[in-house]
Amino acid sequence: MKGKKSTAITTTEKKAIPTRQEQQDVIRFGQAWEYSPSIESPAIVKIAPRYNLFINGKFVAPKSGKYFTTINPATEEKLAEVAEAGEADVDAAVKAARNAYNKVWSKMPGKERAKYIYRIARLIQDRARELAVLESLNGGKPIRESRDVDIPLSAAHFFYYAGWADKLDYAFGGRKLSPLGVAGQVIPWNFPLLMAAWKLAPALACGNTVVLKPAETTPLTALFLAEILQEAELPDGVVNIVTGAGATGAAVVAHPDVDKVAFTGSTAVGKKIQQALAGSGKKITLELGGKAANIIFEDAALDQAIEGIVNGIYFNQGHVCCAGSRLLVQESIHDVVVKKLFRRLQTLRVGNPLDKNTDIGAINSRMQLDKICELVNSGVAEGAVMHQKQGKLPEKGYWFQPTFFTNVTPSLRIAREEIFGPVLSILTFRTPEEAIEKANNTFYGLSAGIWTDKGSKAMKIANAMRAGVVWINTFNKFDPSSPFGGYKESGYGREGGRQGLLDYCKVE
Ligand code: NAP
Ligand code: MG
Repeated sequence: MKGKKSTAITTTEKKAIPTRQEQQDVIRFGQAWEYSPSIESPAIVKIAPRYNLFINGKFVAPKSGKYFTTINPATEEKLAEVAEAGEADVDAAVKAARNAYNKVWSKMPGKERAKYIYRIARLIQDRARELAVLESLNGGKPIRESRDVDIPLSAAHFFYYAGWADKLDYAFGGRKLSPLGVAGQVIPWNFPLLMAAWKLAPALACGNTVVLKPAETTPLTALFLAEILQEAELPDGVVNIVTGAGATGAAVVAHPDVDKVAFTGSTAVGKKIQQALAGSGKKITLELGGKAANIIFEDAALDQAIEGIVNGIYFNQGHVCCAGSRLLVQESIHDVVVKKLFRRLQTLRVGNPLDKNTDIGAINSRMQLDKICELVNSGVAEGAVMHQKQGKLPEKGYWFQPTFFTNVTPSLRIAREEIFGPVLSILTFRTPEEAIEKANNTFYGLSAGIWTDKGSKAMKIANAMRAGVVWINTFNKFDPSSPFGGYKESGYGREGGRQGLLDYCKVE
């Protein structure tokens, strides 16, 4: 597929369910769901023309002298220039973090550290509206999600771990916990502020200092957070934020004075990091890709399940590592599920991320859109049947209509590889045993979903899942007190909950 939109692909008729007539009725039904726009003003947040690196409590120009442009993926318009940290900049950030660790943060009593972390949480709440607009402008996600999910959950993570800071010695049966030192943290573009919160809050609560590298395409909310850290009067050097691309991330994790590495991103880069750090003695947490199975049994509450499926894969444009990207449907209800899903697809609203009615925003970057198109084309070429939402997409920006595939066999690339876009592959099963076998037939193991009316069945299947998170009759629900993490190639270590402390502490 050439071009940057998905319109080149149209719904295939071959063996399509529902029938052509039914599809047309449903598409008309979907078009009846137009809403008047309700746009959040981009003027709510002030974006500077240029951002420097946040090192030792101050914004400093990069020694590299280099800057890169960050854009709005919904319009392709430039938002700002952002500093690109080179090795010398990363070294300065690590030195600042080490100094703050030795002189201030590791010595400070937990109840004092907690005060700063609570302050950060409250300031995120105070400035939630600005942060939500900025997250949507830079990342492309609908304002409804940044406003109702990303920003409140980010504040919740700081609140939660602030509560642990003075209770660490009670967390694990009276065993003493002590900090590791300087943490090097590298995060992706799908939940920019939330991933920063997941990484920073437990690290700070445990008494570590940090060098954080946000993703190249979404650096702005992390830089806004740096301003919040200044406002909270967090001691200089406790958190340092170095922007840049993959090379900056590689410099952070490889720096010899970094004691702990926490990475969220692709499995490919996660493996590179493991290789680079082998034998270094650094403690590592990796949160990598996923290909979650969402299993729907014939006894499930179907309409509820359809909403869960939609939330599981189309939420955040499918840019979710734990997305329910493989739907396993019991054979007896396959046709009815496909019809209901096709109907629901037509009512999803794709467009301006700042519109409060938008369900699906822009794809984060041209690169990610190309990757989605490549995998979707492979699905069509390999014989799967594609179903898409019909309708116009904006002229500029990166967009992909919500899509699902039927006639999918487990060997197809769309059933095995992480698409990281709003694309669902539907497979079928007959017995619970077959569902378990198919769900676990993946290199990944981040999450799974189970939809059934029977509690005992749900628990039995959940116990058999080789996945870090299993949702029952719901999907994509997060809470700071619940640990999150993977099995197999989805990584290791846990973030969130009491368990999340263990990856930032020595336990004596
Ligand atoms: P990625 O390359 O793994 O990026 C994740 C983070 O690591 C970014 O900050 C990235 O910097 C940085 N990075 C890149 N190369 C590095 C290296 N050699 N050493 C240290 N850090 C490095 O992922 P992506 O390019 O954003 O997306 C690629 C695929 O990863 C996606 O299509 C998706 O399949 C997967 N992904 C998974 C998650 C998840 O939450 N599990 C999140 C995002 C992406 P730059 O952004 O500056 O390149
Ligand atoms: Mg990259």
